[in-house]
Parts: sequence; structure tokens; C-alpha cells
Amino acid sequence: MPPATIEMPGVTLIEDAPLAARNTLRVQARCAWLAELGDAATLPRVLALPALRKLPLLVLGSGSNVLFTADWPGLIVQLRNGGIEHMGETGEHVLLRVGAGKPWDELVRWSLAQGLVGLENLILIPGTVGAAPIQNIGAYGVEVARSIECVEAWDRELERHVELPAADCAFGYRDSCFKRAPERWIITAVRFRLARNGALHMDYAGIREELASLRIDQPRAVHVAEAVQRLRTRKLPDPALIGNAGSFFKNPQVDAVCATALRTQEPDLPQWPQADGGSKLSAAWMIEAVGCKGLRAGDAGISEHHALVLVNHGTASGAQLWALAERVREAVHMRFAVLLEAEPRVLPQPTPIPAQHWTRHE
Ligand SMILES: Cc1cc2nc3c(=O)[nH]c(=O)nc-3n(C[C@H](O)[C@H](O)[C@H](O)COP(=O)(O)OP(=O)(O)OC[C@H]3O[C@@H](n4cnc5c(N)ncnc54)[C@H](O)[C@@H]3O)c2cc1C
Repeated sequence: MPPATIEMPGVTLIEDAPLAARNTLRVQARCAWLAELGDAATLPRVLALPALRKLPLLVLGSGSNVLFTADWPGLIVQLRNGGIEHMGETGEHVLLRVGAGKPWDELVRWSLAQGLVGLENLILIPGTVGAAPIQNIGAYGVEVARSIECVEAWDRELERHVELPAADCAFGYRDSCFKRAPERWIITAVRFRLARNGALHMDYAGIREELASLRIDQPRAVHVAEAVQRLRTRKLPDPALIGNAGSFFKNPQVDAVCATALRTQEPDLPQWPQADGGSKLSAAWMIEAVGCKGLRAGDAGISEHHALVLVNHGTASGAQLWALAERVREAVHMRFAVLLEAEPRVLPQPTPIPAQHWTRHE
């Protein structure tokens, strides 16, 4: 029997909805109820429905940064509001308000077509505008936080719509207040501040080389986007061809004492010094060093081309994918005494591993 569907103005409710086509790791999971909202204004009404209001709630964009290790026992909300509103101009800058359901890459391409500067390095990142602030998406030396003016959200604690200026969003490396309190806010729109003639960021990993190979010596934002697009297409597996969630492991940050010790013990391990004296470490290098690049257990695998990417070669379950990720974390911890953190949201949230669980080989 196909899932039961209920239509209301601006809302589609689906009972016992399949999620395989709604997450890029292609995990076969289901949720008790799914609500697709064309208009964010319907949110309070939907959340108050007697059949839904007591259920655990998950907001899903396009599922490119989640791993379902089990069925979701409650309600999943997907926002489909994707409008772009011109809010005004301040000197060199243009202010835009974009609905949370807008596909991120469409916004980037639209901004480039308008001649706006700011989002070009973030081209081709899958996902929705509403999810972009969650982990402060970043690529090729740029994070979205620098272009965000304010985030509009439904605050489930205060039970009202709020506007959070960027300074109140606690943006950090793949981090924000939204990521730390996933139960609290449902982002309904994001306001961006883009430049007409802003500075371009071209110093990261191969952009200048790519521009040179395109024979562009006076680059504009569209050219930087083209260079990034070429680099990304060569490097990252396409979720349309093989299930994945992009980089599965974050680059870990360690304090100055640990960084110094690692510099002696593992002199080839790439480190990026941070302002606090600590270092960010290359997770990809560590995974490769412990022999996990290309690792496979059934259909769960680590990409043979990119050590950070967990892939679903076919019908791996979420639990099998997470078990493989745990094997990688354990191997890295045993050699480097560093615990890798997953970048996607693992659902349900796994129990933290006690420090003494894995012992280190000296
Ligand atoms: C091939 C590939 C490449 C990638 N490259 C990058 C990259 O270069 N840089 C990068 O930063 N990320 C990258 N990612 C990760 C991912 O694309 C981003 O994190 C993206 O922002 C996720 O968007 P989404 O709509 O799919 O979110 P989802 O995966 O649906 O959700 C992610 C999290 O955000 C929450 N969420 C989603 N929408 C809302 C909302 N409206 N309100 C409140 N919470 C919400 C969810 O509950 C969940 O916790 C990549 C992923 C893939 C598959």
C-alpha cells in the first residue's frame, strides 16, 4: 500500500514515509510522519496538530548531511519555500532574503548571474539555504557566515518567529548555535549581504592554478566559481552516482601540547596552526595513514579517491555505514590518540565513546 497522504493548504502530510530518496547516502529508512511545507507561515499550525505535536521532530533539508542509523520515530518537516526577495541596498552591498527551502546551488548560480560577489567559492555544495547556517558551510577558504546578515527561525522554546543577527549565531568551523541545539530552531529564511564589487578569495588549494589553466588573468566571481566547480567535480563523488554525504569526518582541532607531541611523533601529519596556539589536523591524512582509505565492509565503504568520504556502494544500512565509520575512528584513535568527529548529523544521536574505550598502541 502506498503511504497515506493528507493535503492541506500549503502542506502535504505523508504517514510512514520512505526516506531513501531524501538522504544522499541513500539509506533505506522511514519516518512516522513527513510534512512538506510550501509556506513557512504554516509551521506553527502543523506543529500544533494533535497527531503530531508530541512526536520527536526533525527538520530535513535535502538530506546531504545526515546519516539515518534507524527509522525516525516521529515527524520530519521539510520546508519547500524557495523565494528570493530583494530587501534593499547599502552602498556596495545588496541585501537578500531567501526561503529556507531554496536549493543552495541555485542561489549561488542566481547570485553570480546578478553579478554579485560572496558565494562563488561555495558553488556545487548540495543542500538547502535553510541548512547552510547549521554547520556554517564552507569550501575553498570561504564560510557562508561572512555573507549572512541574519537568520530567521521558528524558536520552539519561545514558540515564536525570531531573527538572529549573524553575531548571535556563534558561527565557527562547521559549527553554529543551531548545530549545538538542534531541537530549538527551525530556520525559515536567511538574509544575505552580498557585494557588487567584493574581494575574491583565490588563495586556497588549486584555485589560481585552475584559473591559469582556463587562461583567466583578470578573474571575476563567475571565474572563481568555474574554477571551484572544476576542482570539486574532479575530487568529490557525485551523490547521484554513489551515495555519500560529502566529507564524513571533520578535521580535528587539538591543543598546543598535543600538536607539539604529534609534530615529533608524526612529522609528516599536516597541521594548520590556529590562533589559540593549537592546530587543526588533516583527518584525510590520518585515515589514509591507518590504511582505511578504500576500506569496504559489504556495501559500506570509504571512498578509494577521498579518505574523508563514507560511501554507500549499494544497499548498506545506516547502522552498517556507522559501524564502518566507527572502525575508522578507532583505527585513527589507536595510532594518533585523536578522536575524529562525524560532520553529518547521525540519527539517532550515538552515545559518546568513553575516553578509555579504545586503548592506544604505543
Ligand atoms: C557531495 C557532497 C559535498 C559536500 N560538500 C560540502 C562542502 O564543501 N562544505 C560543507 O560545508 N558541506 C558540504 N557537504 C555537506 C552538506 O551539503 C551541507 O552540510 C548542507 O548544508 C546540508 O544541507 P541539507 O539541506 O542537505 O541539510 P540536511 O542534511 O537535510 O540537514 C543537515 C542538518 O541541518 C538541519 N537542518 C536542515 N534544514 C534545517 C532548517 N531549515 N532548520 C533547522 N535545521 C535544519 C538538519 O536537522 C540536520 O541536522 C557536502 C555534502 C555532499 C553530499
